[in-house]
Amino acid sequence: MNLLDFVASFPDEESCKQKFKEYRETVGVICSKCKHTEHYWKADKEQYECKNCSFRTTLKSGTVMHKSKLPYRYWFIAMHLLTSTKKSFSAKEIQRQIGHNRYQPIWHMVHKLRVVMGKRDGEYILAGQIELDDGFFSTVKPEESKDKKLKRGRGSQKRTKVLVMAESHKVVSVKKGQKPRRVGYLKMQIIEDLKKETINQIVKDLVSEKSSLDTDGSTSYVELSDYVNEHHSEVISKEKVCEILPWVHMTISNAKRQLLNTFHSVKPEFLQSYLDEFCYKFNRRYFGEAIFNRLLVAAVSYKNEFRYV
Ligand SMILES: [Zn+2]
Repeated sequence: MNLLDFVASFPDEESCKQKFKEYRETVGVICSKCKHTEHYWKADKEQYECKNCSFRTTLKSGTVMHKSKLPYRYWFIAMHLLTSTKKSFSAKEIQRQIGHNRYQPIWHMVHKLRVVMGKRDGEYILAGQIELDDGFFSTVKPEESKDKKLKRGRGSQKRTKVLVMAESHKVVSVKKGQKPRRVGYLKMQIIEDLKKETINQIVKDLVSEKSSLDTDGSTSYVELSDYVNEHHSEVISKEKVCEILPWVHMTISNAKRQLLNTFHSVKPEFLQSYLDEFCYKFNRRYFGEAIFNRLLVAAVSYKNEFRYV
């Protein structure tokens, strides 16, 4: 959706609220008290009333806007900005675009949207042929643990480990300029360490047991064949990486570049949510304008659980 279409579709608070309500009802309102799914709409109070137990649910409760005081239109603008470009927007930039005087509520809003992106993708289990590798992302050390010896300026840097998995099918006859593998769904998950138990658990949780994994020869991966149908591991030279694990490496470097360009420095506790946004958009790269509506579905489907003071 381009900017003109967005403004025409959502010219005011009411139009955003109506769209939000429409999507909420399509997904379905569930009574948090008795789990009943049929409700009356009380227009004067802007609440749903359960047909079974009369419990009232506000339009925002149980969604990404749970307890939010910000106007619907702010949320819609943020969703539009986040989905209208391949790149990302910082909360600071979204605050400027909206023209709100306080930064904190906008920052919270944007993070909440990233959390629902992560939740939506969290429901997907990777399958088929999969590339798997780990990468390091530069994050900023918290103030108190900064080592004085580390470089000043951009803040002391720490390396946060991330496990990256991409569905990636080998192309049978590769044409000129074409990649040797075609990519499907992508996942990036922060990991505490590279112990094999840690990696095993993630593969168990996020990858179908029928799939086939390709990795390098790292000792972190030695037990993966217990969790999937096939595991090919080999020592990969630098020159061969782009051939054997092309998509994990390309997405790691694209994500790093995007984080650096948009946020300059990232705290380790927020890296997952930036990666979730990156993967969410990568996984919907062919959706075109529909990605805004998809994010709206996620926004009405998941209750905000982002807490940070
Ligand atoms: Zn009820």
